[in-house]
Formats: sequence, C-alpha cells, structure tokens
Amino acid sequence: MDTILVVNAGSSSVKFQVFAVDGDGRLRRQIKGQMDGIGSRPRLRATDAAGQALADRAYPIESIPDVSEALQVGAAWLRDEMQITPLAVGHRVVHGGPDYDRPVLIDHGVVTRLERYTALAPLHQPYNLAPMRSLLANLPNLPQVACFDTAFHRDHDDLADFYAIPRRLHEEGVRRYGFHGLSYEYIAKALPRVAPEIATGRVIVAHLGSGASMCAIHGGRSIESTMGFTALDGLPMGTRAGQIDPGVILYLILVKGMSPAEAQNFLYRDCGLKGLSGVSNDMRELQASPDPSAAFAVEYFIYRAALQVGMLAAALQGLDALVFTAGIGENSVSIRARIAERLGWLGVVLDPMENGRHALLISRPGTTPVYVVPTDEELMIAQHTLSLLWSGRRSTQAKERAS
Ligand code: ADP
Repeated sequence: MDTILVVNAGSSSVKFQVFAVDGDGRLRRQIKGQMDGIGSRPRLRATDAAGQALADRAYPIESIPDVSEALQVGAAWLRDEMQITPLAVGHRVVHGGPDYDRPVLIDHGVVTRLERYTALAPLHQPYNLAPMRSLLANLPNLPQVACFDTAFHRDHDDLADFYAIPRRLHEEGVRRYGFHGLSYEYIAKALPRVAPEIATGRVIVAHLGSGASMCAIHGGRSIESTMGFTALDGLPMGTRAGQIDPGVILYLILVKGMSPAEAQNFLYRDCGLKGLSGVSNDMRELQASPDPSAAFAVEYFIYRAALQVGMLAAALQGLDALVFTAGIGENSVSIRARIAERLGWLGVVLDPMENGRHALLISRPGTTPVYVVPTDEELMIAQHTLSLLWSGRRSTQAKERAS
C-alpha cells in the first residue's frame, strides 16, 4: 500500500505519522509514533489508528545521540517491522523565511536556504533540517517536501508584516512572519465543511497548546497573527513569555549580565506559564495545583488571550466567529469559558452545556458563534506532500509526452 511519512523533528523528539494513500488520493492515518528522550532516555513508542500500541521500547543513550539517528532507528522500525516504505516524506519546518509561501520539494539548495533561518527559530529549525539532510544522504531518490509554519501568513499586508524599524532591516528579513500556519491552514480548509456559515467571514482562530498563538482569518486567508519575527511573541505559552517589552531583554543582558545565549535559552525555555507559576509549563498541571501562583498563571493566560482577541478583532474590523483549537483549546472547558467571559463585548456568550460536551458549536444561539475544531497539522503536511508528489509526476509525464 502507498504511504506518506510525516516527520516533525524537535530538539529531543522526532514525532512521525504514516498515512495510507487510497486509490482516489484520500489519506488515512495508519501509525502515530515518536522517538523521544533523544540524548537522555531514548524511547520509541507507536500506536495504530485505533490507538493500540505497536511499539514501546527503550534504547541505550549512546545508541541514539541525535535527531538524525532517531530518524534512522524509526525508519528502520517502519521498514523492517511494519513493512512500510513511504512514497514520500513530508517535514514540518517552523521557518520558511520571507520567500516560501507554499510547500516545496527538498533538495540540497533548499536545505541550505532554510539554514539561514536557524537564528530565527533556534530551538526548532536545526532539528527540522537534520532529518532532511540525513534522508538526502541515505535515500537520495526519496521525494521529500518541506511544509512551513510561516507559509500561510505570507500574503499579509505590509502594515501587518512591518516593524517600526528602518526599512533596510525589513528587506533583510526582520519582519513579522506568524507561525502555526499549518494548523490555521487546516482549520481554514475545514471551515467550509464543518461551519460553512462562517467560512468566508472574519474569524479568529485561537491555537492554544504548549505553543500558543492566534490568527485573524478573512475569507480563508490569514491577515494578521499574534506571532512575529520568531515564535516568542504574542500569547504567553508553556515556557515562552509571549509579548514582552524588548527593554526587558536589554535589562537581562545589560544589567543582569546574561549572555545572549543565556537570554535566548531563558526566553524560550524558562518563561511563560512555567516561569510565572514556578510550578509547571503544563496547563493541566497548573489547573490541578493548589499553589496560588499556578492559579495566577492560568488567569494571566486567559487575560492575555482575551486581549489578543481584541487586537485581532480590530485588524478584522469585527468578528464573525471564534474558533478554539490545539491541546488547551480543544480540551479545556474552563479555559474556553473564562476567555469567552471576557469577550462579551464582542457578542460572545457560550452555552455551558455545549461547551461542557466539547460540541462543535459551543455558543448560545443568536450570539457570535464560537466553535471547537480539532486541528490536524500532520494531515495538512501529508496532503501537501502528496499533491506536490503528484504534480511533480504529472509535469514529468507531460515533459515525456512532449519530447
Ligand atoms: P503541542 O502540540 O504544542 O506540544 P498541545 O496542542 O498538545 O501542544 O497542547 C498541550 C497543552 O494542552 C498542555 O499545556 C496541556 O496541559 C494542555 N491540555 C491538554 N488537555 C487539557 C485539558 N483537558 N485541560 C487543560 N489543558 C489541557
């Protein structure tokens, strides 16, 4: 059976999913897995479409020192034990810079271009690129596709994309990019099917997970995002502060004596819900904690989320619907309710029963509609990978016919 492998590689884990390709091009999720604990306690876990375990095994630390090795071991397991040899591999890439407004077939030139954005996504980009290099070296004929978290935001108006800094810096790439684009693209493509009445309207999608952002979508297109140059801006996140006065960073470096590398680590790993609460970066743990700082961190998250909805509603010049998605947005009844309580001025009123049962539409009739739409970034990547593969094949066939 034809399959597409989707790879989402991070600093200490490689998540992967396998999709079967039906004859008519429909994709069916077959395997979900991850190799985590890279460099500490490597472990491969995988489940089938029904959630039944297919693998759960630990490896000695020295056998899987890095992301490339983790991919090799995962790929060998898929090939030897699951008999899966994918048609193509789709990679999640956090930063596509100013140029990539759509997925692209990977070659050495593309990888070199994407390396330029490592400084803009230091905790993601190098790990996203490592598996591409390793596959180019070991399986050069296997088609690979890069799918970018920034691409969906690429036709923003200049007003949305500029910082108020000298233009030459914008020209060299210091601009607002926006992230979580694969999630927003998935939601924008799902809306005509799941909520056709709002699909062409002014919609704010709140992607609330460990990483969190919001996107203003009008007529299916992103027009504004809470994230900017890097994925540090906007909402408070598990370990990232979100919007912060740049003067704080100057203070950390100039007065507190942090090196730039320490400041970077601090901003990506020690702030947000974790830094504020001193308890955890995980929303469920914060909600379960009796510590008042945990409760404050949760309240802070809710307050800042409501503020950012206000900003995006101004960009959209109104609000036709709000959509919650990702780990917190899809699962937390109370966080949705508490954000919505702060949005009454935008006509938002939730129906507690519908919210409580995680219905698709969770608002009261006659109020601004609020939806819960589970996101599926991996399916989006698999779809892009398959369509690029097929369009590549069609153009090869056309060339062959013409010659
Ligand atoms: P990512 O993919 O960015 O790692 P997720 O979208 O999986 O993150 O979201 C993870 C977050 O979702 C964690 O903070 C987790 O605690 C939170 N979460 C998941 N389920 C719930 C729930 N029922 N209530 C509150 N938070 C939840």
